[in-house]
Amino acid sequence: MQPMVEEKQDVDVEEKDFERFEGEEDSEDIEETTVIERSKERLYREIKECPECHSRDLVLDPERAELYCNECGLVIEEDIVDLGPEWRAFDFEQVSKRARVGAPMTYRIHDKGLSTLIDWSATEGKAISSEQHRLKKWQQRMHVTNTSERSFVFALSEMDRMASALGLPTNIRETAAMLYRKAMKKGLIRGRSIEGITTAILYIACRLHGVPRTLDEMAEVSRVSQKEISRSYRFLSRELDLKLQPTSPIDFVPRFCSKLGLDGEVEAKAIEIIKEAQEKELTNGRGPIGIAAAAIYIAAILCGKHKTQKEVSEVTGVTEVTIRNRYKELAEELDIEVIL
Ligand SMILES: [Zn+2]
Repeated sequence: MQPMVEEKQDVDVEEKDFERFEGEEDSEDIEETTVIERSKERLYREIKECPECHSRDLVLDPERAELYCNECGLVIEEDIVDLGPEWRAFDFEQVSKRARVGAPMTYRIHDKGLSTLIDWSATEGKAISSEQHRLKKWQQRMHVTNTSERSFVFALSEMDRMASALGLPTNIRETAAMLYRKAMKKGLIRGRSIEGITTAILYIACRLHGVPRTLDEMAEVSRVSQKEISRSYRFLSRELDLKLQPTSPIDFVPRFCSKLGLDGEVEAKAIEIIKEAQEKELTNGRGPIGIAAAAIYIAAILCGKHKTQKEVSEVTGVTEVTIRNRYKELAEELDIEVIL
């Protein structure tokens, strides 16, 4: 189970919303199809590329109501039924659904701590003395403080575990710890999955140090899914107002090459290809991970150290289809003859 920190009041509010809209569930089945169709049109019209890697290879998953980037895996839009004021009711329903899935668990964890002192649920709705009220407030405050401290210790150990698995140096771990403290001070951790937040913070720290990891690589060492990491990342970069430089495909080359067992010759060739592609503006609207993967694939062939698209796909997390499309484009535009 994931440790979560949440104040009781927040949950109460969400649960009320949930009850209010619960009765409307039946009438929404018919509307859902048109809603998704319309939101699909709006999305394709408004969102032309991934805000993270600028790839235009976007995929809509109507079942999960999500629009995601096929290259870096970023979830660009969630609950895409939100089409404006006329769909507010539907919108609320989504919120309540989430409250139903997410909130009760955090509620239980939090309440367990409180009830070891005094079970306040018995006093619910009844008048309590000012002394009792003071005690209750104090206990709640203490509980929140303790929970924050515990969560911080847990977060640090989790970030350390993942950093070790990723082979990250100390300075990146320090940046991550600093960012976590900053997020905690701004009250951004409360009510969120610590696992998602810590993974996203490590991802950000790597970006800041110019040694980016892919969301795919992060997901491999994290206890949460790539989508959860992506969600937390978007939340944090917005709330902490992070202006991260877009990653260059070149940043990924050394690590991908070493993971593929390719030497410096291939690495240098791949970087050369990427630089040429950037000069000819072939990288516009293409994700850096896909470009890096395709350049490495070509470079390996040119150096007589051929790796299959499957091998490159496994290491980079880019689909074989994307590698194929990207490498064909690059080879054609750069006049590189690739002989397999
Ligand atoms: Zn992307």
